[in-house]
Amino acid sequence: MSGVIGAADVRIAKTVTIGGFDHVEAVTIGGGFPVVIQTMWKERLSFSDLADSAGEAVAARINRLKAMGCGLLRFAVPDLQSAEVLGQLAGMVSMPLVADIHFDYNIALRCMDFPIAKIRINPGNIGGRDKVRQVLEKAAKKGIPLRIGVNAGSLPLDLREAVDKGDLDNAEALVQAAQRELAIFKEFDFNAVLVSMKASGIADTVRANRMLAGRTDAPLHIGVTEAGPLVAGVARNTAALLHLLTGGIGDTLRVSLSDTMENEVIAGREILGAAAELMTAAELTGTEASAKRLRRNGVTIVSCPRCGRHGFDTHGFTARWMPVLYGLDKNITVAVMGCAVNGPGESRHADLGITGAGNKVLIFRRGKVIRTIDAAEEDLSAAGDVSAVGDVSAVADMAFAEELEKM
Ligand code: SF4
Repeated sequence: MSGVIGAADVRIAKTVTIGGFDHVEAVTIGGGFPVVIQTMWKERLSFSDLADSAGEAVAARINRLKAMGCGLLRFAVPDLQSAEVLGQLAGMVSMPLVADIHFDYNIALRCMDFPIAKIRINPGNIGGRDKVRQVLEKAAKKGIPLRIGVNAGSLPLDLREAVDKGDLDNAEALVQAAQRELAIFKEFDFNAVLVSMKASGIADTVRANRMLAGRTDAPLHIGVTEAGPLVAGVARNTAALLHLLTGGIGDTLRVSLSDTMENEVIAGREILGAAAELMTAAELTGTEASAKRLRRNGVTIVSCPRCGRHGFDTHGFTARWMPVLYGLDKNITVAVMGCAVNGPGESRHADLGITGAGNKVLIFRRGKVIRTIDAAEEDLSAAGDVSAVGDVSAVADMAFAEELEKM
């Protein structure tokens, strides 16, 4: 086991491989492997969601998430029927799917009859030694790792009471709860275990993970839970995760948001990129080797916030193009700028740029203007009205798509 963490001292967790059987891709977590981004399906699935074109749409969305950088996808499995549905879905996609189970060991046993790649379950709350033994024996036989998921909202009763009385702080209670679960796995000699300890508090999340990082070599799944809607949730997760990642802690992460799965993945990518950038700065504590675990290939978007000078709707353009750009396997920077003040200059530094400039929209490639779109061409009904350029964006979109294709 490696310990915690100081300048140039990076925690190396043991490796756990998820999937890698049947048609399911293998994702290895821990060691020096890249930090894996994951998200969780937000709806309850039924068999009808998987039939015919509906099923194709679900599979296509999962494949899009994968292209955007999602490595693992988790589903709540509250009953046996949900296990059957998830099992069917697991046969349709190559992304490793994870079943999230509380209390009922029968659901876990059933999930393992399908190519479901990982189970999140806490052995301490499935009700007795024999049930735990059955789950762990089947998981070991099938090569399915398990994740302990400790949550500040569902601590064991004695720990909750100790916290309420002020005898224990939240972070220590989370760590003790996780260690109890780990002890059960150890007793059964089951090693393919990952751990998460989540709280909605930033400081609790950071403190608990820093403490446990020094007490176990299990890969750590990190994130702030119930973090809120998009803006608040990203801010809260960024504060906690930058602290942990730049300290070398964290092997997989989920940015929990009251928002879409796609935005959770994008937020995860951006947080990893930010942590990598900080860690490669010489005056900060990380090492180049550890920063490599955080870096991702893919598109970097530089876009202006827009102001009264804009001649191009950067908000609308980025909203339309973000899912496409984050799904591309191209290592490029794309600039989306509103006007001629900073637009052309910023766009020139990008591999591909689009900017408003008076009554025109310009597309740049590596410093050179390669397309000029007139307002009249952009939207005939709004010819002469510069503020409307980009509101109807078909021409600019088409030109941008053509140039992106050539990158
Ligand atoms: S690039 Fe132009 S539109 Fe965008 S914020 Fe700067 S000045 Fe405003």
